[in-house]
Amino acid sequence: MSSEGASVAVRDLSFSYASAERRVEAIQEITFSIERGDIYTIIGPSASGKSTLLYILAGLLPFASGEALINGERPQPGRRATSLILQNYGLLPWKTVWQNVVLGMEIRRLPSPEIRARGEKILNEMGIAGAAKRYPAELSGGQQQRVAIARSLATEPDLLLMDEPFSSLDAYSRESMQEFLQEIQRKRGLTVIMVTHGIEEAAFLGRKIIVFAGHPGSVYRIFDNPLVGSAEYRKNDSFFHLCTELRGAMEWNQTTGKIL
Ligand code: ADP
Ligand code: MG
Repeated sequence: MSSEGASVAVRDLSFSYASAERRVEAIQEITFSIERGDIYTIIGPSASGKSTLLYILAGLLPFASGEALINGERPQPGRRATSLILQNYGLLPWKTVWQNVVLGMEIRRLPSPEIRARGEKILNEMGIAGAAKRYPAELSGGQQQRVAIARSLATEPDLLLMDEPFSSLDAYSRESMQEFLQEIQRKRGLTVIMVTHGIEEAAFLGRKIIVFAGHPGSVYRIFDNPLVGSAEYRKNDSFFHLCTELRGAMEWNQTTGKIL
Protein backbone atom coordinates (compact mmCIF):
# COMPACT_ATOMS: atom_id res chain seq x y z
CA MET A 1 0.00 0.00 0.00
CA SER A 2 0.99 3.59 -0.51
CA SER A 3 3.51 4.59 2.10
CA GLU A 4 3.96 8.28 1.53
CA GLY A 5 1.64 11.08 0.61
CA ALA A 6 2.35 13.63 -2.10
CA SER A 7 3.49 17.20 -1.55
CA VAL A 8 1.40 19.97 -3.08
CA ALA A 9 2.57 23.48 -3.89
CA VAL A 10 0.30 26.15 -5.34
CA ARG A 11 1.71 29.57 -6.10
CA ASP A 12 -0.11 32.64 -7.48
CA LEU A 13 -2.47 30.32 -9.29
CA SER A 14 -5.20 32.02 -11.31
CA PHE A 15 -7.71 30.46 -13.65
CA SER A 16 -10.47 31.76 -15.92
CA TYR A 17 -13.11 29.83 -17.81
CA ALA A 18 -13.41 31.32 -21.26
CA SER A 19 -16.16 30.76 -23.77
CA ALA A 20 -16.98 32.64 -26.96
CA GLU A 21 -19.36 34.94 -25.07
CA ARG A 22 -17.67 35.55 -21.77
CA ARG A 23 -14.83 34.95 -19.40
CA VAL A 24 -15.32 33.93 -15.79
CA GLU A 25 -12.42 34.53 -13.47
CA ALA A 26 -12.79 31.54 -11.15
CA ILE A 27 -9.69 31.83 -8.95
CA GLN A 28 -7.14 34.53 -8.46
CA GLU A 29 -3.61 34.26 -7.13
CA ILE A 30 -4.07 31.31 -4.82
CA THR A 31 -1.00 30.35 -2.80
CA PHE A 32 -0.52 27.54 -0.26
CA SER A 33 1.56 24.43 0.16
CA ILE A 34 0.99 21.07 1.78
CA GLU A 35 3.58 18.68 3.13
CA ARG A 36 3.48 14.97 2.46
CA GLY A 37 0.84 13.16 4.47
CA ASP A 38 -0.96 16.28 5.66
CA ILE A 39 -4.70 16.99 5.52
CA TYR A 40 -6.19 20.36 4.57
CA THR A 41 -9.81 21.37 4.35
CA ILE A 42 -11.19 24.23 2.28
CA ILE A 43 -14.38 26.17 2.95
CA GLY A 44 -15.76 29.23 1.23
CA PRO A 45 -18.84 30.70 -0.35
CA SER A 46 -20.39 28.97 -3.30
CA ALA A 47 -18.82 29.84 -6.67
CA SER A 48 -15.52 30.83 -5.02
CA GLY A 49 -13.56 28.40 -7.16
CA LYS A 50 -13.10 25.52 -4.71
CA SER A 51 -14.02 22.83 -7.22
CA THR A 52 -11.99 24.58 -9.90
CA LEU A 53 -8.90 24.33 -7.70
CA LEU A 54 -9.42 20.59 -7.20
CA TYR A 55 -9.93 20.02 -10.93
CA ILE A 56 -6.69 21.87 -11.64
CA LEU A 57 -4.84 19.70 -9.12
CA ALA A 58 -6.42 16.62 -10.70
CA GLY A 59 -4.94 17.73 -14.02
CA LEU A 60 -8.37 18.23 -15.58
CA LEU A 61 -8.07 21.96 -16.26
CA PRO A 62 -4.91 23.29 -17.88
CA PHE A 63 -3.84 26.54 -16.27
CA ALA A 64 -1.78 29.35 -17.71
CA SER A 65 -1.12 31.65 -14.80
CA GLY A 66 0.87 30.77 -11.68
CA GLU A 67 2.02 27.34 -10.63
CA ALA A 68 0.61 24.12 -9.20
CA LEU A 69 2.96 21.25 -8.42
CA ILE A 70 2.43 17.75 -7.09
CA ASN A 71 5.69 16.21 -5.93
CA GLY A 72 7.35 19.01 -7.86
CA GLU A 73 5.55 18.25 -11.13
CA ARG A 74 2.66 19.86 -12.94
CA PRO A 75 -0.61 17.94 -12.53
CA GLN A 76 -1.27 15.54 -15.39
CA PRO A 77 -4.69 14.03 -16.12
CA GLY A 78 -3.07 10.62 -16.29
CA ARG A 79 -1.32 10.87 -12.92
CA ARG A 80 -2.33 7.57 -11.40
CA ALA A 81 -1.55 8.39 -7.81
CA THR A 82 -4.06 11.27 -7.70
CA SER A 83 -7.59 10.33 -6.81
CA LEU A 84 -10.58 12.68 -7.09
CA ILE A 85 -13.69 11.80 -5.09
CA LEU A 86 -16.92 13.64 -5.77
CA GLN A 87 -20.15 14.14 -3.87
CA ASN A 88 -22.21 11.79 -6.02
CA TYR A 89 -19.80 8.86 -5.51
CA GLY A 90 -19.34 8.17 -9.24
CA LEU A 91 -20.30 4.50 -8.87
CA LEU A 92 -21.59 2.56 -11.86
CA PRO A 93 -25.14 1.49 -10.97
CA TRP A 94 -25.11 -1.60 -13.18
CA LYS A 95 -21.98 -3.02 -11.55
CA THR A 96 -21.81 -4.71 -8.15
CA VAL A 97 -19.80 -3.34 -5.25
CA TRP A 98 -16.98 -5.76 -6.09
CA GLN A 99 -16.97 -4.77 -9.77
CA ASN A 100 -16.97 -1.10 -8.84
CA VAL A 101 -14.09 -1.50 -6.40
CA VAL A 102 -11.84 -3.37 -8.85
CA LEU A 103 -12.66 -1.07 -11.77
CA GLY A 104 -9.74 1.31 -11.27
CA MET A 105 -7.31 -1.61 -11.00
CA GLU A 106 -8.74 -3.19 -14.16
CA ILE A 107 -8.37 0.06 -16.06
CA ARG A 108 -4.75 0.12 -14.93
CA ARG A 109 -4.42 -3.49 -16.15
CA LEU A 110 -3.12 -4.99 -12.94
CA PRO A 111 -2.69 -8.77 -12.99
CA SER A 112 -5.88 -10.59 -11.90
CA PRO A 113 -4.44 -12.31 -8.80
CA GLU A 114 -3.31 -8.92 -7.56
CA ILE A 115 -6.70 -7.35 -8.32
CA ARG A 116 -8.40 -10.12 -6.35
CA ALA A 117 -6.03 -9.85 -3.37
CA ARG A 118 -6.14 -6.09 -3.17
CA GLY A 119 -9.91 -5.96 -3.72
CA GLU A 120 -10.56 -8.39 -0.88
CA LYS A 121 -8.20 -6.60 1.45
CA ILE A 122 -9.70 -3.19 0.82
CA LEU A 123 -13.31 -4.40 1.16
CA ASN A 124 -12.45 -5.86 4.55
CA GLU A 125 -10.64 -2.72 5.60
CA MET A 126 -13.63 -0.57 4.62
CA GLY A 127 -16.08 -2.86 6.39
CA ILE A 128 -18.09 -3.54 3.21
CA ALA A 129 -17.00 -7.11 2.42
CA GLY A 130 -20.52 -8.37 3.15
CA ALA A 131 -21.92 -6.11 0.44
CA ALA A 132 -19.58 -7.28 -2.35
CA LYS A 133 -22.35 -8.77 -4.48
CA ARG A 134 -24.85 -5.99 -4.01
CA TYR A 135 -25.53 -3.07 -6.34
CA PRO A 136 -24.98 0.58 -5.34
CA ALA A 137 -28.73 1.29 -5.24
CA GLU A 138 -29.09 -1.34 -2.52
CA LEU A 139 -26.67 0.50 -0.21
CA SER A 140 -26.99 3.50 2.10
CA GLY A 141 -25.29 6.77 1.15
CA GLY A 142 -22.52 6.11 3.68
CA GLN A 143 -21.89 2.63 2.28
CA GLN A 144 -21.83 3.97 -1.28
CA GLN A 145 -19.27 6.56 -0.32
CA ARG A 146 -17.19 3.82 1.33
CA VAL A 147 -17.28 1.86 -1.93
CA ALA A 148 -16.13 4.97 -3.82
CA ILE A 149 -13.29 5.49 -1.35
CA ALA A 150 -12.39 1.80 -1.52
CA ARG A 151 -12.19 2.01 -5.30
CA SER A 152 -9.86 5.02 -5.01
CA LEU A 153 -7.64 3.50 -2.34
CA ALA A 154 -7.31 0.24 -4.27
CA THR A 155 -5.21 2.10 -6.84
CA GLU A 156 -2.86 3.23 -4.05
CA PRO A 157 -3.07 7.00 -4.42
CA ASP A 158 -0.75 9.39 -2.62
CA LEU A 159 -3.13 12.33 -3.04
CA LEU A 160 -6.85 12.29 -2.32
CA LEU A 161 -8.84 15.26 -3.60
CA MET A 162 -12.37 15.30 -2.20
CA ASP A 163 -15.13 17.66 -3.31
CA GLU A 164 -17.85 17.84 -0.64
CA PRO A 165 -17.79 14.05 -0.42
CA PHE A 166 -20.01 13.66 2.63
CA SER A 167 -22.51 16.44 2.09
CA SER A 168 -25.38 14.20 1.03
CA LEU A 169 -25.06 11.98 4.11
CA ASP A 170 -27.15 12.30 7.24
CA ALA A 171 -25.41 13.89 10.24
CA TYR A 172 -24.57 10.61 11.96
CA SER A 173 -23.12 8.89 8.87
CA ARG A 174 -21.22 12.03 8.05
CA GLU A 175 -19.45 12.05 11.40
CA SER A 176 -18.58 8.39 11.21
CA MET A 177 -17.23 8.86 7.67
CA GLN A 178 -15.10 11.77 8.90
CA GLU A 179 -13.61 9.55 11.59
CA PHE A 180 -13.10 6.77 9.09
CA LEU A 181 -11.33 9.09 6.64
CA GLN A 182 -9.11 10.46 9.39
CA GLU A 183 -8.09 6.95 10.35
CA ILE A 184 -7.17 5.79 6.84
CA GLN A 185 -5.45 9.09 6.09
CA ARG A 186 -3.20 8.66 9.11
CA LYS A 187 -2.60 4.97 8.63
CA ARG A 188 -1.53 5.41 5.04
CA GLY A 189 0.15 8.79 5.36
CA LEU A 190 -2.03 10.07 2.53
CA THR A 191 -2.15 13.71 1.55
CA VAL A 192 -5.76 14.88 1.54
CA ILE A 193 -7.43 18.07 0.35
CA MET A 194 -11.11 18.17 1.16
CA VAL A 195 -13.54 20.86 0.07
CA THR A 196 -16.54 21.07 2.36
CA HIS A 197 -19.34 23.47 3.18
CA GLY A 198 -19.49 22.22 6.75
CA ILE A 199 -17.67 24.41 9.27
CA GLU A 200 -17.53 21.56 11.82
CA GLU A 201 -16.30 19.14 9.17
CA ALA A 202 -13.55 21.57 8.14
CA ALA A 203 -12.51 22.01 11.77
CA PHE A 204 -12.67 18.33 12.66
CA LEU A 205 -10.56 17.12 9.74
CA GLY A 206 -8.24 19.87 8.59
CA ARG A 207 -4.81 20.31 10.15
CA LYS A 208 -5.08 23.57 8.32
CA ILE A 209 -8.28 25.14 7.07
CA ILE A 210 -8.20 27.40 4.05
CA VAL A 211 -11.06 29.87 3.93
CA PHE A 212 -11.83 31.11 0.45
CA ALA A 213 -13.38 34.42 -0.42
CA GLY A 214 -15.25 35.00 -3.68
CA HIS A 215 -15.55 36.37 -6.36
CA PRO A 216 -13.13 35.55 -8.02
CA GLY A 217 -12.03 32.95 -5.50
CA SER A 218 -9.01 33.81 -3.43
CA VAL A 219 -7.52 32.72 -0.13
CA TYR A 220 -9.02 34.84 2.64
CA ARG A 221 -7.25 33.18 5.55
CA ILE A 222 -5.52 29.96 6.51
CA PHE A 223 -6.31 28.71 10.02
CA ASP A 224 -4.01 26.43 11.97
CA ASN A 225 -5.58 23.53 13.85
CA PRO A 226 -2.80 22.02 15.97
CA LEU A 227 -5.10 19.84 18.09
CA VAL A 228 -6.77 18.13 15.14
CA GLY A 229 -7.08 14.41 15.67
CA SER A 230 -6.83 14.57 19.45
CA ALA A 231 -9.18 12.36 21.45
CA GLU A 232 -12.78 13.56 21.77
CA TYR A 233 -11.85 16.61 19.74
CA ARG A 234 -15.48 17.39 18.90
CA LYS A 235 -16.10 18.04 22.60
CA ASN A 236 -12.99 20.14 23.07
CA ASP A 237 -13.16 23.87 23.80
CA SER A 238 -10.56 24.66 21.17
CA PHE A 239 -12.73 22.88 18.60
CA PHE A 240 -15.68 25.14 19.47
CA HIS A 241 -13.43 28.16 19.47
CA LEU A 242 -12.09 27.32 16.01
CA CYS A 243 -15.62 26.75 14.66
CA THR A 244 -16.62 30.19 15.95
CA GLU A 245 -13.61 31.76 14.27
CA LEU A 246 -14.37 29.99 11.01
CA ARG A 247 -17.99 31.09 11.22
CA GLY A 248 -16.78 34.65 11.72
CA ALA A 249 -14.57 34.38 8.65
CA MET A 250 -17.48 33.05 6.59
CA GLU A 251 -19.73 35.87 7.81
CA TRP A 252 -17.08 38.35 6.80
CA ASN A 253 -17.31 36.76 3.37
CA GLN A 254 -21.06 37.31 3.28
CA THR A 255 -20.93 40.91 4.39
CA THR A 256 -18.15 42.17 2.14
CA GLY A 257 -20.37 41.65 -0.86
CA LYS A 258 -17.68 39.55 -2.48
CA ILE A 259 -20.17 36.73 -2.76
CA LEU A 260 -22.22 36.06 -5.89
P1 ADP B 1 -17.26 26.39 -6.00
O1 ADP B 1 -16.83 24.96 -6.14
O2 ADP B 1 -16.50 27.16 -4.97
O3 ADP B 1 -18.73 26.53 -5.79
P2 ADP B 1 -16.57 26.53 -8.82
O4 ADP B 1 -15.13 26.22 -8.90
O5 ADP B 1 -17.53 25.48 -9.19
O6 ADP B 1 -16.93 27.14 -7.38
O7 ADP B 1 -16.87 27.79 -9.75
C1 ADP B 1 -16.13 29.00 -9.69
C2 ADP B 1 -16.66 29.96 -10.73
O8 ADP B 1 -16.40 29.45 -12.03
C3 ADP B 1 -18.16 30.21 -10.66
O9 ADP B 1 -18.42 31.55 -10.99
C4 ADP B 1 -18.72 29.30 -11.73
O10 ADP B 1 -19.93 29.78 -12.25
C5 ADP B 1 -17.62 29.30 -12.76
N1 ADP B 1 -17.55 28.04 -13.51
C6 ADP B 1 -17.40 26.80 -13.00
N2 ADP B 1 -17.33 25.86 -13.98
C7 ADP B 1 -17.44 26.56 -15.15
C8 ADP B 1 -17.44 26.18 -16.53
N3 ADP B 1 -17.28 24.91 -16.91
N4 ADP B 1 -17.57 27.17 -17.47
C9 ADP B 1 -17.71 28.45 -17.08
N5 ADP B 1 -17.71 28.87 -15.82
C10 ADP B 1 -17.59 27.95 -14.85
MG1 MG C 1 -17.93 23.19 -5.92
